Parts: sequence; structure tokens; C-alpha cells
Amino acid sequence: MLRSFLIYLSKAGWAQRTVTGWKLAWKTASRFVAGEHVEDAIRAIRDLNARGIHATLDHLGEHTTTIEEAAQATEDIIAVLDEIDKAGVQSNVSIKLTQIGMGLDDTVCRQNLARILTRAKEHKNFVRIDMEDTPYTDMTIDLLNGALDSNFNVKTVGLVVQSYLYRTEQDTRKLLERGVRFRLVKGAYKEPPDKAYPKKADVDANFDLLTKILLDAALAAGSPTLSKDGRIPPLPAIATHDERRIAFAKQYAEKIGLPKEALEFQMLYGIRRDLQEQLAAEGYPVRIYVPFGAHWYPYFMRRLAERPANIWFFVSNFFRK
Ligand SMILES: Cc1cc2nc3c(=O)[nH]c(=O)nc-3n(C[C@H](O)[C@H](O)[C@H](O)COP(=O)(O)OP(=O)(O)OC[C@H]3O[C@@H](n4cnc5c(N)ncnc54)[C@H](O)[C@@H]3O)c2cc1C
Repeated sequence: MLRSFLIYLSKAGWAQRTVTGWKLAWKTASRFVAGEHVEDAIRAIRDLNARGIHATLDHLGEHTTTIEEAAQATEDIIAVLDEIDKAGVQSNVSIKLTQIGMGLDDTVCRQNLARILTRAKEHKNFVRIDMEDTPYTDMTIDLLNGALDSNFNVKTVGLVVQSYLYRTEQDTRKLLERGVRFRLVKGAYKEPPDKAYPKKADVDANFDLLTKILLDAALAAGSPTLSKDGRIPPLPAIATHDERRIAFAKQYAEKIGLPKEALEFQMLYGIRRDLQEQLAAEGYPVRIYVPFGAHWYPYFMRRLAERPANIWFFVSNFFRK
């Protein structure tokens, strides 16, 4: 109930105007967001890199409403790729396709994506396409396939898949035929029961099944490892803070003999830093999703929805100086 309400609020314009007007909202959001400017994010990444952890940088934004906004978002992402290269940090980039025109004008989105991937390729960097809610799943996969059919390969662009969707196993198996590199997540949006498992136990069981599929595929592909500069990821990225899912992935990788560097664990900025460091110390590649920018509201609301305790963290800030 609470989760659904918060996800509803994440998309409601009136709530965005209200919440972003509260000075203390940013104070709370900054636990999950590295800052408003790219320099803030680069600083956060340097700190992660110093601890042996890699990053994926997300210039926050989604659902742009005009072609001009989508063009500006594209320019901003290209600038982020340039900044990463200039700073020499170990980071790739994550993007949302609704940020660059998906759902607005698909031809424009395709062109914007091609511009971003061209710059990533020039810098020998990697772009991960985040997965949004189900009205966009087919379009997202089509745009990825279009990119792979043209000038780009799986070392330049990869995808996120969500274990809460019934369709994901089939989508994943199909895209694995092309060698696509995946980030596996549980899924952060509100989906109807005809599209997504309503019960958490089923989402978790499917996460473990998809983990197996991805680790087996990595082994069959010759266990491609993380690139030395920390930018091009191995085939499977297991993105969760759920210790049981992580334990399952570790055990299964060990059982089939997949080297540690042939998978990576991913977590969100500001969440379970202890676990991030523990995995890195054990010798697994770890990558943190570092979001920055002025459009932090929907991202922040999804983080509140994931864990009701975060709301108390938010509320308690109102009573502090
Ligand atoms: C790197 C990365 C990229 C992602 N990209 C996408 C994407 O493209 N599309 C998409 O739909 N979703 C994405 N997600 C979000 C994902 O779908 C989940 O909503 C999110 O990871 C929470 O689920 P969980 O796997 O951690 O498991 P859960 O079962 O939700 O949580 C397990 C434990 O993790 C901790 N935890 C989880 N969330 C929080 C939080 N917000 N605050 C504090 N503690 C928390 C708690 O201790 C909790 O008990 C991404 C997640 C990660 C880590």
C-alpha cells in the first residue's frame, strides 16, 4: 500500500513541486544522490575508486516532455562521458531512454542514443541502459537491438533486466544469444499482477534463477572479465542489497568455477556501504550507481518506496537543525 502510494507520488507533478520546495527534502535526498553538479559526482567516484570500488554515473532525469529537453539531456550525458575521461576515474554511465526521447519521438531517441554511444565508443567506455516501467520494455529492447544492429557492440552498450517481470527470463535468454551484458535487478516500479510477480518470494526466486542463467552464460562465453580501467563490465552484474541473493550468486559462481572477476556486484550510492566494502575486500568487482543532478525527485521517491524505514529518516530530518 505504502510502496504503491510512494511510487504514485514519484510521478505526480503536484507532489514533486511540493516536496522539492521543502529545503529539508534535499538534505534527506542527498543521502542517495551525490550532488547537483558533475564535479560533486566525480568527487564521490574518486572516493569510491580509492576504496577499490567502481562506479556508474547517472545524470538524473526521466520522462522529458519536449524534443529540446531530450536534446539537452543527450548533450549532458555526452558531457558526462567527457568528464569521466578527463578525470580518469573508473566509471561508466547509466542512462534512461525516456530521458532522451523514448515515448516522445522514437526516431529522435534512436538518434540521441547513437550520439551517446558514439562518444562512449570514442572514449572506450560503456553505457548501461536502465530498465523503466512496462509501457517501455519493448521499446527499450528494440532500441538496444537497433544499436547492436548498427555501429555498436556489447562492449559499448548493455541492458538492465528486472526479476519481478514474468517476461524477463525469455527476454534475457534471447538477448544472451547476442552476448548482451546485463545488470540484474528486482525492479523498482509499480506493475500490475498480469505483468509482474506480486509476491516478494517469487521475485526473489526468479532473481536467483536469472542469476544462474547469467552466470552460466558468462562461463559459456569464456568468462569475460571486467576491463582493467574498471569501465567495461563483465557479462553479469548482480545488482541488489539483498544478502541472500548475493550469497546465492557467490555460491553458484564458485560451484560452476566462474572466476570472481567475471561477475560484478552493484549497489546504489548511500545504501549498505558495509556490504559494498566487504565484497570488494573479498575480491569481487563492485560498482556503485552514483546519481547526480537537479532532477532527483522521482529517483529519491523510489528509494523511499523500497524501504519504509527511509521515510522515518526523512521525517526525523524535519526535527533536526
Ligand atoms: C545498481 C542498481 C541499479 C538499478 N537499476 C534499476 C533499473 O534500471 N530499473 C529498475 O527497475 N530498478 C533498478 N534498481 C532498483 C532495484 O530494482 C530495486 O528496487 C532496489 O535495488 C532494491 O531492491 P534490493 O534488490 O536491494 O532488494 P530488497 O529486498 O528490496 O532489499 C534488500 C535489503 O536491502 C536494503 N535496501 C534496499 N533498498 C533500500 C533503500 N532504498 N534504502 C535503504 N536500504 C535498502 C535493505 O536492508 C533491505 O532489507 C537498481 C538497483 C541497483 C542496486
